[in-house]
Amino acid sequence: MSATQSTYVEEEGVYRFHMEHPVPAYLVALVAGDLQPADIGPRSRVWAEPCLLPTATSKLSGAVEQWLSAAERLYGPYLWGRYDIVFLPPSFPIVAMENPCLTFIISSILESDEFLVIDVIHEVAHSWFGNAVTNATWEEMWLSEGLATYAQRRITTETHGAAFTCLETAFRLDALHRQMKLLGEDSPVSKLQVKLEPGVNPSHLMNLFTYEKGYCFVYYLSQLCGDPQRFDDFLRAYVEKYKFTSVVAQDLLGLLPGLLPRAEGAERGLPGRAGVRALAECHGPPAGRAGPVSGIQPDAARGGPLPAVDRRAPGA
Ligand SMILES: [Zn+2]
Repeated sequence: MSATQSTYVEEEGVYRFHMEHPVPAYLVALVAGDLQPADIGPRSRVWAEPCLLPTATSKLSGAVEQWLSAAERLYGPYLWGRYDIVFLPPSFPIVAMENPCLTFIISSILESDEFLVIDVIHEVAHSWFGNAVTNATWEEMWLSEGLATYAQRRITTETHGAAFTCLETAFRLDALHRQMKLLGEDSPVSKLQVKLEPGVNPSHLMNLFTYEKGYCFVYYLSQLCGDPQRFDDFLRAYVEKYKFTSVVAQDLLGLLPGLLPRAEGAERGLPGRAGVRALAECHGPPAGRAGPVSGIQPDAARGGPLPAVDRRAPGA
């Protein structure tokens, strides 16, 4: 259960769960099955079916604590006490879900060491972005997924190096641009600030744009700052200010003036607050310089040039 405390009274046959922090309903989750635990760190254990437990344990033992510690150095204390992971059968309909205290993840991901690293670190990042500070509306899911993807890449830069992070970023941005060519640059779902019209399934708003255009926008904000460490501090202050609440984009963007003094922005030829807002609401490719996706520089995740954007027409 995504809870900070769990107890089982054998005589009564009753499980009790308690979550000490306020969380939105979508982060409440319960799993039942033939699951066994094994410790993988001082505040982490994996839960898995007996046939999977040795593999899951060997792949993650010690690693999760390293990733949590890296995230704490960037964004402040881990707020949820335990960070456990439960491996679910291949019928689990998504790859992973960042339920507080207990990440749900599909067991088939154990086939790939790289995807296991990337996806678990992504869920770790949600502990700060999405779980501690939640988007108040489904129209602004990028506040969760874009920020978590940015934080994930800052963490992997620290733990696995810039080259690993750059390759993963290029792979995903290439997928984003292929999807954009399929849908067209004027597709309504290519906006960060998507409009949830009556009758629209909110799950349709969860797509690569939410993750990768969201990431590019957050990366763009980090470029306005000019220093990734300073931007880390900004995000740390954002979490501290809004932890255990739900926010709208303006809550994040409203903190930008403190990050980017007007004079400094003008010297860099950067857009003001209205320009930043317009970028969040436009269709099509994310903000960035023209050029092939493969042109991302190795230090992109450290604060180098913006992720490159292929602006060629579909099919060109
Ligand atoms: Zn996510």
